[in-house]
Amino acid sequence: MTTTNQKKAIVLGAGGFIGGHLVKRLKEEGYWVRGVDIKNNEYHNYADEFILGDLTDPNVVQLAISENIDEVYQLAADMGGALYIFTGQNDANVMHNSALINLNVVHECVKKKVKKVFYSSSACAYPEYNQMDTNNPKCSEKDAYPAEPDSEYGWEKIFSERLYLAHNRNYKLDVRIARFHNIFGPYGTYKGGKEKAPAAMCRKAIETPDGGELEVWGDGLQTRSFLYIDECIEAVLRLMRQDSFIGPVNIGSEKMVTINQLAQIIIKLSGKNITIKNLEREEFKEKYGFKCPTGVRGRNSDNTLYREKMGWEPSQPLKEGIEKTFNWISKIINNNQ
Ligand code: NAD
Repeated sequence: MTTTNQKKAIVLGAGGFIGGHLVKRLKEEGYWVRGVDIKNNEYHNYADEFILGDLTDPNVVQLAISENIDEVYQLAADMGGALYIFTGQNDANVMHNSALINLNVVHECVKKKVKKVFYSSSACAYPEYNQMDTNNPKCSEKDAYPAEPDSEYGWEKIFSERLYLAHNRNYKLDVRIARFHNIFGPYGTYKGGKEKAPAAMCRKAIETPDGGELEVWGDGLQTRSFLYIDECIEAVLRLMRQDSFIGPVNIGSEKMVTINQLAQIIIKLSGKNITIKNLEREEFKEKYGFKCPTGVRGRNSDNTLYREKMGWEPSQPLKEGIEKTFNWISKIINNNQ
């Protein structure tokens, strides 16, 4: 039951990491929230209503997106960490499933006259040729073109960004689009092949005995930046709550680190004497039987545009967020032992 003046939001992908956190924040702010996902959220579910369904099916989307909705947050995607996106083994499903979800969702949002729609794109939309230099990646929004993402996941994001923008131009659908850069934090996937580097390294450091080795894929000199989940949600809501700018815009941290530096932060938190074992391309292929899924050499969020339009940007030190994530994974693993 909604109360008068209570805002109504639908979070697509609420069974996932960012969606789960977003539902929690919207509920804290007094919204009525419907979550939709093909799976339940393993860790928390604060939604008033949860529809378990496959958004590639237009009938499910018709049911999920009803009339009189203030905000739809489209976070559902067939995705995962490097092992899922960069080996090439899931390319067809990634493109097919995510494109279908977005085609269904954008159509239904127009039909049901949803007031505002958020679409989550990715830093993976940026071209590989701008990310060959570890120290100087070019990821300002205009650098997305000419397009040449290094994965089919990135190509689908480019397509869907354009899909939402076209519906904004032709059907006046009020959209906001952000390109997320490596969002991390507790209550997310930390095992099973779909986890991202921060969670995977925390798990490995927790499971590695004192004196052991922590495996890091590639030479570890590849660079990335990582944004803690709470600041990601804050940035999404700020983008949604203004009407002069629709994006696409980066949501990320500008504090770039090498993957080995990230591993060192995590090893220090474990309090153990662990050494980094970099698995170079050939060694990786020999051990796992497929190409080392390290992605581009260098990537960093460029927050110039977000700063300029929103007058705010994320500022939390990486170590703080990593510590919270480490403690959360550690608690689960230790409780299961
Ligand atoms: P996630 O995998 O935890 O969440 C995505 C959710 O979509 C999952 O719960 C999944 O079950 C759901 N889903 C997939 N196919 C579906 C279908 N057919 N029907 C219904 N639900 C379906 O990922 P996340 O990290 O929470 O990412 C959310 C969004 O942000 C995604 O669109 C992702 O591409 C984008 N993004 C995330 C990051 C990041 O670092 N986490 C970076 C860039 C972009």
